[in-house]
Amino acid sequence: MLFGNQDHFFSLVDALSAIRVLTQLPVEEVSESVFLRQALDALVAHQNLGQCSIFLSDGTHLNCAVGAGADTFGDDSFRQPERLNSMQFTVDEGIMGLAVQTGQIQYCRNCKLDPRFKPFERRALSHGDGSLISMPIASGAEVLGVLNVSHYQPEFFETWQQHFLMLFATTLGRLLHLHRMTHQLGDEVAVRTHALAAALDESEKLRNRYQQLSIKDELTGLFNRRYFFTEGESMLSRAIRYKADLSLLLIDVDHFKRINDTWGHAVGDQVLRQISNIFLEEARAGDLVARLGGEEFVLALPNTAGEGLEQMASRIRQRIAASGFTVGDQKTELTVSIGITSLNGRDSSELLPLLERLYHEADCAMYQCKLDGRNRLLYYSPEMESVERNGGLN
Ligand code: GH3
Ligand code: MG
Ligand code: MG
Repeated sequence: MLFGNQDHFFSLVDALSAIRVLTQLPVEEVSESVFLRQALDALVAHQNLGQCSIFLSDGTHLNCAVGAGADTFGDDSFRQPERLNSMQFTVDEGIMGLAVQTGQIQYCRNCKLDPRFKPFERRALSHGDGSLISMPIASGAEVLGVLNVSHYQPEFFETWQQHFLMLFATTLGRLLHLHRMTHQLGDEVAVRTHALAAALDESEKLRNRYQQLSIKDELTGLFNRRYFFTEGESMLSRAIRYKADLSLLLIDVDHFKRINDTWGHAVGDQVLRQISNIFLEEARAGDLVARLGGEEFVLALPNTAGEGLEQMASRIRQRIAASGFTVGDQKTELTVSIGITSLNGRDSSELLPLLERLYHEADCAMYQCKLDGRNRLLYYSPEMESVERNGGLN
């Protein structure tokens, strides 16, 4: 047998049990303080020790992280958080300091006589003439802290116990390092996952915004010119396929320049938004309302012609004329000219030219409104084509 008596043998088995328990602790699942507490409990449960404690280094100080046992200190010091907090030493102080500085086990055979123990006596951590071992808890060259074990008897620790305790402290150091790495990694993953989610969210918002911008007019929120010509083609295609009608209202604000000149561009913008709202209110589901540019708008109305069409155009003209847009405490009159045209059974596989033709007709009719004195609506007729476009408006 390796040892002289059976007690030693059982002590060794106990010691190995402590290491087995230590290595089986759920490092990934618990906080650092819980892990250290469990480690210390494993040690105390399997070894006949007095006071045990773990101090962690923050580079300049050793702070008591956890303690167990009460016989040597004679009280419950380590169970009281305020006492734990007050237990702080510098890294070059006393026996613990030496363990940190040298990376070697420090054995104080009799605390009363050993000068290395002086700083601890000063803090009233009296060990009488008991013995104490301080071991570095290290991971590679880095000392993370110190493990202290004491016994009320002087010269208590035998050589094999010192070896065992060093093995325990080394294992603890490796596991503590592993714990920190795992949790740091977990934190980093959480931070990065959060950042990634935020970035994805942001890019989704941007994507939506650009998608909107590419089809919507920013000032009024109506569809833009590009969208009108794309969607207009589809509407035309449907109207031809189902032999239904499709009409266009081309609406231009009368003397809009005066609004800008009198009230400023911002008020002009506001007026454009208000007019846009009237178009939206008058439009039905399936109608397409777009701002073609400046103060020119278009409404594409499927299945609409004849009387219904005229009623709708009239309502829009009247509502705007009656609105009396308010600017500050003043009211300003505003009117629109509306050119109207309808598909009226025309058929063509060339959709875009046909749509451009309809747009042209509505524009001719709108221009005729301007010539005739504005604030009116007119259906397109071929004789409007001969009207000279250059100048003539006032
Ligand atoms: P008419 O009755 O002949 O249509 O006269 P008008 O003044 O409405 O027409 P004109 O084409 O001479 O002027 C249009 C004005 O619309 C000029 C331009 O500064 C203004 N305008 C164009 N886009 C915007 C805009 O987004 N915001 C504002 N506030 N004004 C705009
Ligand atoms: Mg105008
Ligand atoms: Mg115009």
